[in-house]
Amino acid sequence: MGIPVDTIVVGSHVWVGDPELVWVDGQVVNINGEDAEILTSNGNLIVAKVSKIYPKDAETFADGGDDMTKLSYLHEPGVLHNLATRFEMNEIYTYTGNILIAINPFQSLPQLYDAFTMELYKGIPLGKLSPHVFAIADAAYREMMKEGKSNSVLVSGESGAGKTETTKMLMRYLAFLGGHSAAEGRTVEQQVLESNPVLEAFGNAKTSRNNNSSRFGKFVEIQFDKLGRISGAAVRTYLLERSRVCQISDPERNYHCFYLLCAAPPQERERYKLGNPRSFHYLNQSNCYELEGVSDAHDYLTTRRAMDIVGISEKEQDSVFRVVAAILHLGNIDFSKGEDNDSAAVEDELSLFHLQMAAELLMCDPHVLENALCKRAMITPEEIIERSLDSHGARVSRDGLAKTLYSRLFDWLVDKINVSIGPDPSSNCLIGVLDIYGFESFKNNSFEQFCINFTNEKLQQHFNQHVFKMEQEKYTREEIDWSYIDFIDNQDVLDLIEKKPGGIIALLDEACMFPKSTHETFSQKLYQIFKDHKRFVKPKLARSDFSILHYAGEVQYKSDLFLDKNKDYVVPEHQDLLSSSKCSFVAGLFPPLSEEAGKNSKFSSIGSRFKLQLQQLMEILNSTEPHYIRCVKPNNLLSPGIFDNTSVMQQLRSGGVLEAVRVKCSGYPTYRSFLQFLTRFGILAPEVLKGHCDEKVACEKILDKMGLTGYQIGKTKVFLRAGQMAELDAWRTEIL
Ligand code: ADP
Ligand code: MG
Repeated sequence: MGIPVDTIVVGSHVWVGDPELVWVDGQVVNINGEDAEILTSNGNLIVAKVSKIYPKDAETFADGGDDMTKLSYLHEPGVLHNLATRFEMNEIYTYTGNILIAINPFQSLPQLYDAFTMELYKGIPLGKLSPHVFAIADAAYREMMKEGKSNSVLVSGESGAGKTETTKMLMRYLAFLGGHSAAEGRTVEQQVLESNPVLEAFGNAKTSRNNNSSRFGKFVEIQFDKLGRISGAAVRTYLLERSRVCQISDPERNYHCFYLLCAAPPQERERYKLGNPRSFHYLNQSNCYELEGVSDAHDYLTTRRAMDIVGISEKEQDSVFRVVAAILHLGNIDFSKGEDNDSAAVEDELSLFHLQMAAELLMCDPHVLENALCKRAMITPEEIIERSLDSHGARVSRDGLAKTLYSRLFDWLVDKINVSIGPDPSSNCLIGVLDIYGFESFKNNSFEQFCINFTNEKLQQHFNQHVFKMEQEKYTREEIDWSYIDFIDNQDVLDLIEKKPGGIIALLDEACMFPKSTHETFSQKLYQIFKDHKRFVKPKLARSDFSILHYAGEVQYKSDLFLDKNKDYVVPEHQDLLSSSKCSFVAGLFPPLSEEAGKNSKFSSIGSRFKLQLQQLMEILNSTEPHYIRCVKPNNLLSPGIFDNTSVMQQLRSGGVLEAVRVKCSGYPTYRSFLQFLTRFGILAPEVLKGHCDEKVACEKILDKMGLTGYQIGKTKVFLRAGQMAELDAWRTEIL
């Protein structure tokens, strides 16, 4: 985004870097060689390198521009300032070309989403009305109807940025466009919409960053018939966070469903032997039980009703909640030292009660359950030896069982929703909506962040390629030459992660299959193999950590739990216990392993399965026309009205918005119709306007007179290089 130096003169309005505000505006009061002296709007006199400051557009729109690409100067501070200005006026949506940026208002804006607004956006081309998520949904729908081609909407952003709310809005609008008459009763679109509260009850939780954080990724395909009516749907989910079931830290919560069930009507609570959530180990590791403005008792009933609508029978619902309750009871079984020192025994009467309860709810034999928690069989060629776990081992075993049960339960719900809504085999058009975790970089990053960031690399590549393609099409339409110079491809990071053989996932699988591997030997191997890889770093003081240079920045991963978390393995004792449950629902969650699978006992890894899922997702996305929505969290306090420059800037960078801006800047970021151009810059060459040449020629003459090169004249527009608009403005300022 280099701006030619001579566009900055004394008197220029500029943006200059600021440690706190990221960018602050000011006016140049003096220039001394490379250095400019600037009086900033907050009253400081500072000196900055001329090459590090950006011109500020004096003609900013009063309400900010609703499309960034129409800003005269397309650069970081311009983008940031525009978003801030609009946010202040509750304009939370802004386009960057056809990418929608959505800033979470953290307050209810009902009139923005009411029936009247939906009606308003129906059938109106993108850009004719204020930017809106409905406009994107409408564009996808119209494109699908017109071209007979599938479309997708990719919603991304960091946790709490508003992805899930945006997704729900999109789905609501699509249901509005493609809905059947209400008289038909339980319609497909109703089922699609009601799948949201069901999935949220079981897959969402309060975290420190979002009170209703989705702990899984989701891709919903909404299918349409030839008349444009919703005819079927499919939901795919990705990588549910399993650890949360047994481990939470203050002030977070476990999955909503546990609290909902504890707040169920008394007779149901009695049936599941539940009481105060404070009495359960899986819930009382954190001090947070209630959510502001949320009634768990009310949400329990809502969830039940939603389950009815998506087609989960009364009996199935009972089984689902029985498993939820069983998990809570499981968590309360504690162990102490048994008769001999290395063995575990159920600690006390209370633990015994919970063991009985868990067994009763899961409909299995309490002794078999106890053994499954405390003992392991070791198979040697000669015999089978029974070995006791110590109390720590037994707790790990218990938590493993709880996590496996929960993730199977979640998968069952997703399958059930899919079977019940049903795909429409005759449909050949769909609109896919993707709500998936954004890039994550914390102090401690583990396997989950690794998978999440891998996802984001994949989506970023898709995004880059698309933005690039769109730019190219625009230039082709105007019949101008454009050779793309500077396209950053992240294929090298993707290779590092997923290449087979030799990528990190493949090496991790190898480590998991080799009994003697530890996270240290795994890391050593990475250090050795990727020693010269441009995207891989061994942190200086680290013994087993490794860093990846992602497109959105460097992330340091702790490898110590990578092996454990990658193993998708159910202990045979747990498998046998549950597959022999007298409850057909529970047994159904653990189908007996087929002879074949047992014999080959092929190692199955979370990482590889996830990679495969992503591959399939990319295949679908590649066959659709994509639309992008970038959600932005304006502050970390989750409060309305606060716009934190630093945080927003960082999100724009990692969300690829600035990358899109950069792609545009490497071509011709600013373009104006001939008439617009002449209106603004005619003053630079009044003699040209006096003559009777056509607009196109007049534009050319002005540009020539000002000595600009490298610009292009299209069929209807002038295309300027980065900085040329500023240069022309500087001349104009001198004349005025
Ligand atoms: P994400 O899915 O990106 O983690 P959510 O969609 O769950 O984030 O949004 C977090 C919270 O922010 C929501 O629970 C809601 O309170 C608020 N929120 C998000 N988008 C909007 C919106 N468009 N209008 C009002 N509130 C919103
Ligand atoms: Mg979410």
